[in-house]
Amino acid sequence: MTEDSTHGRCSRCQTNTATHMCEDCGIAVCSECLETKSTDYVVCGECHATLGTPSPEEDFTECPECESTNLCEGKRTVDICPSCHSTRVVLLEERRRSLALGMRHAIMAIQYGHTKLREYNNKLRTAKRHLVSLRMANFLHYKWLEEKIEAIDGEIPAIKTRISSQAEIVAKKMAAETKNLIDYTLWTTPQFPFIEGVTNRVTEIGNYYKQNVDEALEPLRTTLKEVKKQLDGIEYYKNQFSLFYEHGQLAVGELPVCAMPEIRVTGSDFLKNEKATGALFLTNRRIVFIAETGLVRKKMESVFDFPLMYLKSVEEDGRFRKRLVLKMKQGDLRISCSDQTMKILPDYIEIARKFDKYIQTDMQRVRKLEQEETNISDVRLKIEELVYSLLSTSTRGYEDAPNPRSVDSYRKRPWAERGLGEIPYGAGYAGRDEFRDRLEQSFGRERSDWSHISDPTKRRNLESLRRDAESINQAIRETVRLLRDGRLVAEDFIRRYKDLMRDSYYNRREIDRLSRQTRTRYW
Ligand SMILES: [Zn+2]
Ligand SMILES: [Zn+2]
Ligand SMILES: [Zn+2]
Repeated sequence: MTEDSTHGRCSRCQTNTATHMCEDCGIAVCSECLETKSTDYVVCGECHATLGTPSPEEDFTECPECESTNLCEGKRTVDICPSCHSTRVVLLEERRRSLALGMRHAIMAIQYGHTKLREYNNKLRTAKRHLVSLRMANFLHYKWLEEKIEAIDGEIPAIKTRISSQAEIVAKKMAAETKNLIDYTLWTTPQFPFIEGVTNRVTEIGNYYKQNVDEALEPLRTTLKEVKKQLDGIEYYKNQFSLFYEHGQLAVGELPVCAMPEIRVTGSDFLKNEKATGALFLTNRRIVFIAETGLVRKKMESVFDFPLMYLKSVEEDGRFRKRLVLKMKQGDLRISCSDQTMKILPDYIEIARKFDKYIQTDMQRVRKLEQEETNISDVRLKIEELVYSLLSTSTRGYEDAPNPRSVDSYRKRPWAERGLGEIPYGAGYAGRDEFRDRLEQSFGRERSDWSHISDPTKRRNLESLRRDAESINQAIRETVRLLRDGRLVAEDFIRRYKDLMRDSYYNRREIDRLSRQTRTRYW
């Protein structure tokens, strides 16, 4: 990769190396051949605000920012294209950089697959935990919540396969589009418009993939959204019930059903406090009303507390201002409430009466749901590997047969060195170097010829694996410490500890395998 072959000569003087290009007519010139244009502009002498260039009709007299009249003139010189006199002249290297970034960005669209999968998985995990916490608090509503979650859990493996095999197909298409173009240091200036076209096509391929991922996840997301809505509803009742627990408690076998705030008792045939505003609580056994009573010394108290059996029926009453009439064994009880509550209260009373039919009784099933976590790191690794091999000039070096690369070039990885940003490998404790080492090692496994020649790589792999082992050990110690400090609950501790142990196991196995191989080669 010599300067000349990539950068080319200035199209004006034909001697210097071109450093700039015109975005309008596309020519590449050297800085000496660039022409300049200077414009006058006015700047405030007090606050240094730039007022711009006055048009022929107007004349600046004072600064719009600070009203100073101390205005100065300045001269601004800009480069212009010697051919078309456009001011849109850019540095060649900058243009190359932004084109390279564009292509890179387009390729990285494949990461959408595991990012969205992870997002979904996190939401699912949150929903499961939420469900467990509600169940533990004795809110056992809607046994179909478990069924729904089990169903979407069951679909995940197929969707994971779909997302990762689609990624593979898309990566192949992207590889074909960017064939021989991935090393941006080799792009020539006349190639730039073509590169832009390639990036556009890669972007399209990426968009198609994104659409596909969304379609795959859509049904699961919809179900999860429904589940979440119901969980939030139950959560709401759970929060409302804290008022209930301040004034009473549930009997053995009694379960909370729902709570409706801002209910006003407007009249009754038999109550002492026949006007009060408060919250109505339904359990599977009782109907309880807790409200503020007393005119002078106000206090919250239970205004009535009846077995649900005493409630004979609920009727609507009133022509203009609608009321609900609770027909109790002792007589009528009129309440007013929001339209929403008025609509749902009769339904909830029915649910409360037949609550047995709605509740989840199998706590094992609930626990099991929470424990069954879908692991998506395999998809993530696969996709990161695809992205890496698409972007890496080393793994794709074999493509440019007419221009064989020196062995060294793959170590340089111009992508990274030019500070184009990090490739988000995302691995827990593996830095980018370790990650590359691992990848190179896995590529090496496929191309056995290569892996057996390069001793240093192998040695480095071993080193990086040992470094990993050290970080895993550190993470284990850290986890134990967090548990001792009480900053980690037992469940999370177990989960994290198990993961780390598994990582540690694989790491050790890999070290063993590699050191065995290294040895056999010397024998
Ligand atoms: Zn020149
Ligand atoms: Zn031009
Ligand atoms: Zn000013």
